[in-house]
Amino acid sequence: MLANMDEARAALARVFGFPAFRGVQEQVVARVLAGQSTLAVMPTGAGKSLTYQLPATMLDGTCIVVSPLIALMHDQLRGATANGIAAATLTSVDADRGQTIERFLRGELDLLYVAPERASQPHFRDLLSQGRVGLFAIDEAHCVSEWGHDFRPDYRLLRPLMDAFPDVPRLALTATADRHTRADILAQLGIPDDGLIVAGFDRPNIRYAIRGRDNPLRQLKQVLAENPGPGIVYAPTRAQVERLADQLAGEGRTVLPYHAGLAPEVRAGNQAAFVASEDMVMVATVAFGMGIDKPDVRFVAHAALPKSIEGYYQETGRAGRDGDPSVAIMLWGPDDFVRARARLGEVEEHRRASERARLDALAGLVETAECRRAVLLRHFGENPPTQCGNCDNCLNAPGVTDATELARKLLSA
Ligand code: ADP
Ligand code: MG
Repeated sequence: MLANMDEARAALARVFGFPAFRGVQEQVVARVLAGQSTLAVMPTGAGKSLTYQLPATMLDGTCIVVSPLIALMHDQLRGATANGIAAATLTSVDADRGQTIERFLRGELDLLYVAPERASQPHFRDLLSQGRVGLFAIDEAHCVSEWGHDFRPDYRLLRPLMDAFPDVPRLALTATADRHTRADILAQLGIPDDGLIVAGFDRPNIRYAIRGRDNPLRQLKQVLAENPGPGIVYAPTRAQVERLADQLAGEGRTVLPYHAGLAPEVRAGNQAAFVASEDMVMVATVAFGMGIDKPDVRFVAHAALPKSIEGYYQETGRAGRDGDPSVAIMLWGPDDFVRARARLGEVEEHRRASERARLDALAGLVETAECRRAVLLRHFGENPPTQCGNCDNCLNAPGVTDATELARKLLSA
């Protein structure tokens, strides 16, 4: 296993061009290479992909990657191929499926990306048994849990598939899973409890602020004025995205919309413009962001309450991946909660309790007078200090304000 890790470090430099593992990557890769099934909970931007892509280049057999979105798979495919990894996707939009199957059967593929719907079909199991599988990687693994914020029933069918290959290790990956969801993922995917690895969730360079929404347009214009770098404004509906994108434009920066209702080429064009830009603002629904790798996003603003703390963390986590100071500002109003509570009535009975708990947790974050970061991190099972000094509540706490006020008076005296 130690020899393996030397080899892994060499591959890290050779294949990816990285000098070192980041955080828990090394631990995760070591487990995978030792054939131990693992659930890795690592924040967005922590480098989850590498934890299966690197072993995939070293293992005998192909790493089967289950991923929930075709767009995500194609992003990953581009990245892996650019690093010289033999990878392919097997989705409804791939015309070369026959060729991909041939390559898999000949043992030429390091990575094969599939959607859960395909992975759970009997003929996919037959295909796998005719080739050689080295690892199952389940990306966005919270989709397997009803406690997670994005339940996908087909993820439940992965267990029988993987059980048919008992010698193949499993690596489940997610950015956002509270205690319940983690336990559920382990159980649903058949990963032992001691296979859990959790990376720290704190993003110290992000300054959190949550404000009542009184005049959203004026408030958002102020956010844009105070934050010149690239930024994302999340709005809950397509109509609001369109309207806000119009209203926020014309102040000397490019402001573009992004939502699932736009034509694919418009979406792709707006996304490419954003990734290339140094000052653009993207007004978007939550359809925007997953899998987008732009390190210098300076602010993320929510025009309304997000769906859950997990969603809030994931969306705000797109700010400041380069580690430089960044801000996350959420605007909320009581009507957001009225709407969210109304939606609870439409949720299936057996999910209602977990949805209600999710909403209550969000209300706790919004209404707290305590440190936002502490509330956020405690939600993810961490035990943070009571004051972070870099959120609105810490910065506006009486002691802090007095000190700044005093300093200002002293300096101007
Ligand atoms: P996640 O899926 O956890 O959100 P990604 O796998 O997309 O994160 O990786 C985020 C970014 O971090 C990518 O640009 C990736 O190339 C980079 N990265 C991953 N591992 C390392 C490392 N060991 N050193 C430097 N950069 C890394
Ligand atoms: Mg990822």
